[in-house]
Amino acid sequence: MIKVEHLKKYFPITKGFIRKKTLYLKAVDDVSFIINDGETFALVGESGSGKSTTGRTILRLYEPTDGKVFFNDIEITALSEEELKKIKPKMQMIYQDPYSSLNPRMTVFDIIAEPLKEYNYKNIEDRVLELLESVGLSEEHASKYPDELSGGQCQRVAIARALALEPEFLVLDEPTSALDVSVQAQVLNLLEKIQKEKKLTYLFISHDLGLVRYLSNRVGVMYLGKIVELGTIEQVFDNPLHPYTRMLLQSIPVPDPKQKSKRRRIVIKGEIPSPLNPPAGCPFHTRCPYAQEICKRKEPLLIEVKEGHLVRCHFAGEI
Ligand code: SF4
Repeated sequence: MIKVEHLKKYFPITKGFIRKKTLYLKAVDDVSFIINDGETFALVGESGSGKSTTGRTILRLYEPTDGKVFFNDIEITALSEEELKKIKPKMQMIYQDPYSSLNPRMTVFDIIAEPLKEYNYKNIEDRVLELLESVGLSEEHASKYPDELSGGQCQRVAIARALALEPEFLVLDEPTSALDVSVQAQVLNLLEKIQKEKKLTYLFISHDLGLVRYLSNRVGVMYLGKIVELGTIEQVFDNPLHPYTRMLLQSIPVPDPKQKSKRRRIVIKGEIPSPLNPPAGCPFHTRCPYAQEICKRKEPLLIEVKEGHLVRCHFAGEI
């Protein structure tokens, strides 16, 4: 359903007062992947890895610097604003913070009805009620304002609004990370249920590998704007080949201490480098315990090591 080809999003940053100099923050730097119909594809990585910017650029909330995005074989990166408006209802986004994504001066009814009005939907009242019920809310919530609702209820309203125009593809940008732990599972279960019922395709953006493993079919691991490992959940979680993926997996809490002791520990040196000035060669070489001379000079390519399992490391499979 979604094909991303060599996508780049660079943000210009001007430095200096008198002698101005423009640098480019390479938030997304040559990213390619596909998302199959009905699957959940996850993007994981630390904050600043470029995963949210990738999601937003796919939906053209940011204009790409380069590269192509296809939705059902339509190149959406080539569409005019008018053509894009026709296709936008099919591609929606759920944001991390439900409070800031909902207009505090609008009632729940008006929030959900807004896209319906914009696209001249008939029977708006019936449709809003149907949407409220589909996300586990009721008619009583329709007259409330966001600040009268809990975080979980606000996220349900945001989901109802995103579903209003019957989308096929949703970008879920850390949809539960601003919610209490007790509510997170309810919202995730709701997203799973809706996906099955409506046969939706998801791009799930998260830094929480536990959730990614639970919810997704395939995953791309991002570091400094690039995908460093990509594969099915089993390939990446059971046989991680990139040192960065292993580092991330070690950050998942393990309840059983015996299991923890069996894991091979990797010590990561240093801080994540600035995307304004990424290291030459392999972008991970400043923190990688396996870095060799070649890693400082030559950037590794994303190579398929096994069907569907791609890794960006000169020594993939050897370390
Ligand atoms: Fe580490 Fe070198 Fe592989 Fe980069 S290419 S991840 S620095 S071993």
